[in-house]
Order: sequence, then C-alpha cells, then structure tokens
Amino acid sequence: MTPVLSVRGVGMAYGGGVKALDDVSLTIEEGELLAIVGPSGSGKSTLLHIMGTLDRPTSGTVEIDGEDVMSLSDRELSALRGRQLGFVFQQFHLTDGLSAWENVATGLLYAGVPRRSRRPRALEALARVGLDHRSGHLPQQLSGGERQRVAIARALVHEPMLVLADEPTGALDTANGTAVLDLLGALNDDGTTIAVITHDRDIASLLPRTVELRDGRIVTDTRAEAQAEGRAEAQALADTQKVRKAPA
Ligand code: ADP
Repeated sequence: MTPVLSVRGVGMAYGGGVKALDDVSLTIEEGELLAIVGPSGSGKSTLLHIMGTLDRPTSGTVEIDGEDVMSLSDRELSALRGRQLGFVFQQFHLTDGLSAWENVATGLLYAGVPRRSRRPRALEALARVGLDHRSGHLPQQLSGGERQRVAIARALVHEPMLVLADEPTGALDTANGTAVLDLLGALNDDGTTIAVITHDRDIASLLPRTVELRDGRIVTDTRAEAQAEGRAEAQALADTQKVRKAPA
C-alpha cells in the first residue's frame, strides 16, 4: 500500500549554516498514530513544516500519498493541504467571532465542499469530538480542553489523509491533556492517521510508535510491541538475576 507520507533523505539548512535536519527518512502508513519527540531545537517544528508542505526542504524528497510534493507549485500545494492534511496547534488558533461549528466549517473552505453541506458536516465532526451540544458557543465561552476539541474537529472535518498535531496538549492541564490524547486515540481507532509532535516523552510513550529526533536526526523509531518486548526482556533478565542471587 502507498504510504500516507514518505520523507526520504531530507535535509534543511537555514542561513548561517544551521542544519535543522540532516538526512531524515520517515514513512507513515495509513492508520498509524505516532509521536515525533525530541528536546527543544532538535528539529521537530522544521520537520512538521516540511511534512505539512508549509516549507520545502533544502535536500531530499517528500511524497504525500505517493505524490512528489517537491514538483508542485505553491498553489497546487495549498490545494493538496486543504484536501489531504489537517492541522492542530498548541494554541488552538480558533477565530474569536465564529461559533464552534463555524470554526469547524472553516476546515472545509479549501476542500471543495458545497456551502449547504458545510453545517451538517461541521456538526457531525463536533459530534465525533463529543461537542455537538456546544456547537453555537463562541471560543471564549469554551474551556481550553473544549477549544482544542473544536480545533481537532476542524482538522478532521474534511477527512484528511493525515492529521499533524503540534504540541496539542501543551497549553492544557494534565486532565484536559489526557482527554485530548484519549480523543486522538479514539479517532485513530476509527481510522484517522495522526502524527503528534511533542517535547514530552511521557506523552510520546503513550502512543503506539515513537520517532525520536536529536540534533536534526532520527535516533530511534520504536513501536509499542517492540517497547513491550523490550520491557518483558528486561523483566525476564531481572527475574533470572534474582533467581541466581536467591540463596539455595
Ligand atoms: P524544535 O521544534 O525541536 O524546537 P526547530 O525545528 O524549531 O526545533 O529548530 C531546529 C534548529 O533550527 C534549531 O537550531 C533552530 O534554532 C534552527 N531554526 C529553526 N528555524 C529557523 C529559522 N527560520 N532560521 C534559522 N534557524 C532556524
């Protein structure tokens, strides 16, 4: 099957010789939920911008659904973004004067959805995030956790191939952050492919796959089964050592 996203040998050099990414290769398959984790300055935002076609790398290739995005014009890229990608930001980025459903409907503007279908589609997306009862509320009448759920509904209302979430729990307290992660997990169970960018290892460890960036390079790419196996092996080793140490 064609991967949703394929980044190969990507490098990004900024002026002044800063190499934000160096030979990064990453493939995301349909149905995955992964974390891209790393400390501040490791290149997460740069990679997110490249994956989201907001920036072009200085070297390497980027394909979305098998299409080489490097060969597309800016206009073609924004059309592709509008149809295939959904974005969630740390600070929600909702429009103040618009109600929850109107904010969600803005996610349909570039997806070629006829005007009359926009409200029902927005209400349906709000129902998926458990907020249909708040559809007429303005952002300032909602809690932080609710605002992020509206933003998530906006990111998926046009049924994108891939949702990119940039520190989606960064502005929330622990309880609301956990609720947002649970929601992303549930949406993934329903088939949405999601990449979460985070500096927080605890959050990353809750997701089925973790890609770790350091100094612009991928240093580990681990799946939950492998993590669980690693833990089981460590436990087995500890158990054997205990047995050996046990007095006869
Ligand atoms: P992260 O999101 O993990 O904090 P970034 O991708 O923002 O990391 O940054 C990676 C490196 O690239 C850092 O050294 C940062 O200072 C540098 N960098 C990021 N954006 C720019 C830019 N527009 N111009 C110059 N250097 C940049």
